[in-house]
Amino acid sequence: MSDQVKVLVTGAGGFIGHHLTKYLVERGYWVRGVDIKEPEYEATAADEFKLLDLRFRENCLEATEGVAQVYGLAANMGGIGFIESHKGEIVRDSSLINLHTNDAAQENGVKRYFYTSSACIYPGYKQNEADITPLREEDAYPADAEDGYGWEKLYMERICRHYREDFGLDTRVVRFHNIFGPLGTYDGGREKSPAAICRKIALANDGDDIEVWGDGLQTRSYCYIDDCVEGIYRLMQSDYHEPLNLGQDRMISINELVDIVAKIAGKRIGKRYDTTKPQGVRGRNSDNTRLREVLKWEPQISLEEGLERTYKWIEAQVKQPAPVAVSA
Ligand code: NAD
Repeated sequence: MSDQVKVLVTGAGGFIGHHLTKYLVERGYWVRGVDIKEPEYEATAADEFKLLDLRFRENCLEATEGVAQVYGLAANMGGIGFIESHKGEIVRDSSLINLHTNDAAQENGVKRYFYTSSACIYPGYKQNEADITPLREEDAYPADAEDGYGWEKLYMERICRHYREDFGLDTRVVRFHNIFGPLGTYDGGREKSPAAICRKIALANDGDDIEVWGDGLQTRSYCYIDDCVEGIYRLMQSDYHEPLNLGQDRMISINELVDIVAKIAGKRIGKRYDTTKPQGVRGRNSDNTRLREVLKWEPQISLEEGLERTYKWIEAQVKQPAPVAVSA
């Protein structure tokens, strides 16, 4: 057997976990991927892929056996429409997954554990305006996280800290800000705003209107997937164990996002606002001061470049001919 470092990626059938698995295999790691489903759009690059439900402790023990590092990306999650309407399911599943994975990693002598938190842990009272001040890591407290999904993430950040301080499990914690890119969910109800907008515009004709959730003035920042996996890897290699933002710090409105995608598509697209739909916080942006200090790096890929690659992939998906039913 070679001296390859063995790592586990949980959620390897999902968007970020799939891309991270490819990245780690390319860098010479031996990767075990675990998920309840295989990647939807492309075969996994993992050396070994196990279908396991990580809500159960015995499955977490099997998943973490014999690996030196764990990247914990498994979660029951989705875009704002999903997380606002499935709070019980999300907190139950993701708490069980994360508590058991953490504990099994500790029991199996895993050296380093990477936990994927979210910008949804930041307090609502700091995100009431569209033109908000970018969020610094210390803004997390006094806590007022996104109800359901955000509180579970914040709680797990603390669990990581307690396992590190009391049991010596070396943890890393990242807070992602809206990661997007090809091979991510773009329909079915769990998709996020960049993918949903790319899909709607790909399906629209020149001159059509598309539905926009809210008044379009709410703001966010968006980070392309290749920058995300590079940031994950750099944080895992660092000796920094406090939670760290990982995202872009260019804030735009949903209206601007629609206009950029329409330009990429070469279509004139109007907006039809539905203010009854969930919108999340009014404004959110990442303060990347600490990211630059700790990682000596920051996301490199422009929003336009990332959206162009994503739009092309989603357009190709939605234009695929529907499978033809074969009668017996
Ligand atoms: P994703 O939904 O594509 O991937 C999560 C994966 O976890 C899925 O493949 C799912 O099948 C798997 N999973 C769910 N329940 C499971 C179970 N019981 N056992 C095993 N696997 C299970 O999501 P993603 O965008 O790749 O997100 C990865 C991580 O990053 C998650 O923890 C998520 O909360 C966090 N995050 C993502 C974003 C983003 O913008 N994508 C933002 C903030 C935080």
